[in-house]
Amino acid sequence: MLKGLWRAQSLTSKYAYHRPVPVVRQLITLAIETSCDDTSVAVLETARQDGSSQDQKAAILHFHEKVTADNARFRGVHPIVALESHNKQLAPLVAKALRNCPSPDQRSPSISIRAQSGWLEKTKPDFISVTRGPGMLSSLNTGLNTAKGLATAWQVPLVGVNHMQAHALTPRLVHALETENNEQLPPKFPFLTLLVSGGHTMLVHSKALTHHAILANTMDIAIGDCIDKMARHILPAGLIEDSAEMMYGRLLEHFAFPNGPSDHGYIAPRTRAEDLSQKPSIWGWALTAPLSRTRSGSRSKDMAFSFAGLGSAIERICHRIEKAMTLDERRDVAREAFRVAFEHLASRVLMALQQLKIAETADTEEMGTLVVSGGVASNRFLRTVLRSFLDIRGFAHIRLVFPPTSLCTDNAAMIAWTGTEMYKAGYETDLSCGALRKWSIDPSAESGGILGVDGWRMK
Ligand code: AMP
Ligand code: ZN
Repeated sequence: MLKGLWRAQSLTSKYAYHRPVPVVRQLITLAIETSCDDTSVAVLETARQDGSSQDQKAAILHFHEKVTADNARFRGVHPIVALESHNKQLAPLVAKALRNCPSPDQRSPSISIRAQSGWLEKTKPDFISVTRGPGMLSSLNTGLNTAKGLATAWQVPLVGVNHMQAHALTPRLVHALETENNEQLPPKFPFLTLLVSGGHTMLVHSKALTHHAILANTMDIAIGDCIDKMARHILPAGLIEDSAEMMYGRLLEHFAFPNGPSDHGYIAPRTRAEDLSQKPSIWGWALTAPLSRTRSGSRSKDMAFSFAGLGSAIERICHRIEKAMTLDERRDVAREAFRVAFEHLASRVLMALQQLKIAETADTEEMGTLVVSGGVASNRFLRTVLRSFLDIRGFAHIRLVFPPTSLCTDNAAMIAWTGTEMYKAGYETDLSCGALRKWSIDPSAESGGILGVDGWRMK
């Protein structure tokens, strides 16, 4: 029997509801995310119509918390540990979320909530949003079944949300939380999203609410996974043991650049040939850009990512010498590892922008925004590398958007937002729907993308 292991995280932030904000006619959703090892619940309120009055927030997050199963003992996410954590955490989180629902006005249906101080009257959510896929089936089912129970008990609709679509729409949520007036929701379609996390490395071209083309995906492991593995080789053993930090990527960034951006000293290569050239270190080793030399020849023009080779190269370098590496050499390995990984990302972003520019016609809007999302997006050196690349290679006009980390790692607020956008567009999900282990967001995929699966119902 696995003991309950988890790490609680309150996502209470500047977006939390702590003052009475006037809302004309609200739409409230309770959202649940359990696709992997995070159990997260949110309550989001938005104006019923797009385009709200002047002094009204476009969206208010009344509640947002998550608890992460502690998989530190395992090299990756353990499905049973994740499931046990969801089983233990989800119901109490939902109960807490309900206590944080807004008080009802005369027009809103209410529910009675049992609290320590007695019974509370709260606004009944208008619908339930829940992650339906992609993800681990056992984890997804915990959230989906709870969501179906709530929707049945309250007789409100259910919206089964695609987790990847939710990642892609996050910057629109951020904008809605930050603005008073919601006339135009930036970023406007189309925009590009680079999703870089522990589980994903994807470049997505978002054209419309349900139309997200995957331009590049990883051929092997995700960049966050690679960074975590590299950190275990590069960081001095004591540093990992002494640190309470569970995000090895953050630890590695701090080790590589202890003074922050003033340590970066980075200028992007001016040409593709320069990108691909090796930069030998003073220690005698050199890293190769991913996909520049493979057994089948160079794949440097492929719209794909690969990180497994970089991880193995770092392992070889760190264990090649008998005596322990000096701190200076370790720091240089860390900086080079980040440079090569991030230039690989930047090279594909650049290729995509060049291809889209060529394909641009009078009826397609110009690409103006690149959203960088996922846990790795909090790395400040990544921001430096991407900005420098875009500036030097003729895309200085592209705006880089980095949503706050609490909203661009797995969380229920993005599920609430996506559920709301889908609900407003007329979509609901049948209560007989099942969880989906795989669910592409790309309409050109065999499965037909977001709308290609069964269970959708138009209002
Ligand atoms: P997510 O899967 O979105 O929850 O993101 C978690 C991943 O992001 C883990 O692999 C972390 O090591 C990585 N990560 C978090 N912070 C940083 C950072 N500052 N630099 C690089 N990677 C990071
Ligand atoms: Zn995710």
